[in-house]
Amino acid sequence: MSTSQHFEHSFHALGSEYVTPTAATPVSAPKWLAWNNRLAEQLGWPEAWGHNEQTLITLAGNGQFEGSQPGSAAYAGHQFGNYNPQLGDGRAILLGEWRRPDGQLFDIQLKGAGPTPYSRGGDGRSPVGPVVREYLMSEAMHSLGVPTTRALAAVATGDPVYRQQLEPGAILTRVAKSHIRIGTVQFFAMTRQGKGLKELVSYVTQRHYGAALQKAQALNPQATHAQVLLNEVTRALANLVAHWQSLGFIHGVLNTDNMLLCGETVDYGPCAFMDTFAAGQVFSSIDTGGRYAFGNQPGIVHWNLSVLAQCLLPLIDEDQEKAVAVAQKSVDQFPTLFTDIYSARLAAKFGLDAMRDSDHALIESFFSQLEEDKLDFTLAFRWLTEVANGNMDATILESLFTPSSGLLNWQTQWSNRRLQATSASCEHMKTANPVVIPRNHWVAQAIGMAEAGDNELMETLQSRWQDPFNWHAGDEQFAAAPKREEQVHRTFCGT
Ligand code: AMP
Ligand code: MG
Repeated sequence: MSTSQHFEHSFHALGSEYVTPTAATPVSAPKWLAWNNRLAEQLGWPEAWGHNEQTLITLAGNGQFEGSQPGSAAYAGHQFGNYNPQLGDGRAILLGEWRRPDGQLFDIQLKGAGPTPYSRGGDGRSPVGPVVREYLMSEAMHSLGVPTTRALAAVATGDPVYRQQLEPGAILTRVAKSHIRIGTVQFFAMTRQGKGLKELVSYVTQRHYGAALQKAQALNPQATHAQVLLNEVTRALANLVAHWQSLGFIHGVLNTDNMLLCGETVDYGPCAFMDTFAAGQVFSSIDTGGRYAFGNQPGIVHWNLSVLAQCLLPLIDEDQEKAVAVAQKSVDQFPTLFTDIYSARLAAKFGLDAMRDSDHALIESFFSQLEEDKLDFTLAFRWLTEVANGNMDATILESLFTPSSGLLNWQTQWSNRRLQATSASCEHMKTANPVVIPRNHWVAQAIGMAEAGDNELMETLQSRWQDPFNWHAGDEQFAAAPKREEQVHRTFCGT
């Protein structure tokens, strides 16, 4: 292997307060569940570490890649609004950082590879179900264009894990721009009362927002890392949640420890895409109060950013009043940033040249109609797309979606509005409104089969969801909304 192909350990190098050396615990009988060759190629991953027996053993925790330095990271976080001072990688082990040929650095992490110093009595393991869910969902999200962690591999361990019942165990190989969270900043700011915070903030700002830092410091030599970080994370998370809202994605556990500072979606636990539209939709079995309901996500992300801001105050300015003013200004940008990005996404979805004031009422009434008539979110938007592009007959959409009379009435107003739009906006609709999304009932079925040792559906779905904006043969099944008896109403954390 050439010297350019090796792990780096920049986060680990900050010290053992950040990453504690932790070895994976060997398992009985590793078996492949999935290997993501496309991602391996994109990463410039070595051939020798590809889909072979030695890699399988290594990704199961029974071996080690040359040059890896396994470790687990400390963090804290607000869980459902309450501060937990000590969380951390309880079932995740960072093998090292991998530099893609274009220079971008990625964490390579095993999730479910055994206990760590942060396991807090947990077994450090994961059942097959949540591993398959995260693999499928994160890869589908990537193909939909949403910033997200990714899945390089999934392996079954051959060992059972004990949850409500005995379940087969598995390990996911996760790839992220980094796994540093709002909760990581909280750990150093709150649990450790500021010790080590400055080093963390400098590190993460340089790793993710180096260009913004240079620009800010060129304009104002006094600009702090903390100030730049807060500004950039506000921007990145506004972008992320706007994207989720535009696709009907519900994360399910938007605790501050599940929000990455790099702006990628992380931790596919009880997440789900909506089938029929409902603003108050909740799937997670543990979200009894609906804190993380679909319509609440932007507000929750804003709240999480205010937690980050609070932690960064001592680094923004020694003068507390000045620090508060600067941080407040930064976080106060969120509603406008979110609204602007979300409006642009909606304009693309509705085939509008731009969002005008009068369009808000039109859009509101569309969503009310979907909710009232219990219409499928994804198919309704694709119906608009095929209508606008005059492409209905070339697709099977009419066999999958029947507009209600209310929606047909609404269509008249929309068509009138669109008479004032340019034709280019039709084209945009095709890449703003997917044909397929990773629907819950398919994920559930793939999990059931993988638990029984059959990966075929997992492979089929993964391959279909790689191209979500175009019609394919077989979409009678994959684009269709679930039948009543197929609908999934509850999702579980699977920890
Ligand atoms: P999550 O709900 O997956 O975001 O996890 C919340 C916290 O619980 C994190 O600190 C995890 O590392 C930890 N955790 C979750 N499942 C396990 C497990 N099976 N063993 C040890 N720690 C776990
Ligand atoms: Mg988590």
